[in-house]
Amino acid sequence: MTRQRRLEIKAKYRESHREKLRVANREYQARIRREQPDRARDADIAYKAKNRERLNEYERNRRKLDPEAAREACRRYRQKNLDQQRERARLYTKLHPEQNRAAARRRRALRHGATGSHTQAQLDALMLKQGGRCADCGDQFSPSTPPTVDHIVALSRGGSDSIENLRWTCRSCNSAKYNKSPLEWARIRALRERC
Ligand SMILES: [Zn+2]
Repeated sequence: MTRQRRLEIKAKYRESHREKLRVANREYQARIRREQPDRARDADIAYKAKNRERLNEYERNRRKLDPEAAREACRRYRQKNLDQQRERARLYTKLHPEQNRAAARRRRALRHGATGSHTQAQLDALMLKQGGRCADCGDQFSPSTPPTVDHIVALSRGGSDSIENLRWTCRSCNSAKYNKSPLEWARIRALRERC
């Protein structure tokens, strides 16, 4: 059989089994997407890169034929993307609580126009220096007594965000101190200990 003949037979088969092939292909695509999402995504990206012109042309035609449907599809895509982004952000926060708290501190420092900055490595070193204990009450940090970063001179009172102005305290000491100056806080603690 010649090559030409084989191609003819194939083409004829595709022609007469069009619907069946379409369904089979759709099922195959769905299965790959389910079982090997990474592979499917890579293939999608490669396909789009290779057929960019043709896909753009198709998109333009579709928009012309049914602008309302195109707008609706666009809106759905944006919504889906938004949900996906939110979900990713949520997951990231969950997986990287440390970075997340650091980012929150940076934002707060920025809001107060604080000078200086610090690194996670400096905070880690400080934690070692404090022996994993609260700088105020001396309690050992644990999951039920989680460490928090305290600004010795509060940001709201012009305190800096550099490591010299930071210490680790337990959450209850940190919130009790709030924005009191070191002196005010020392007085209150002295009174408390006397009682
Ligand atoms: Zn404490």
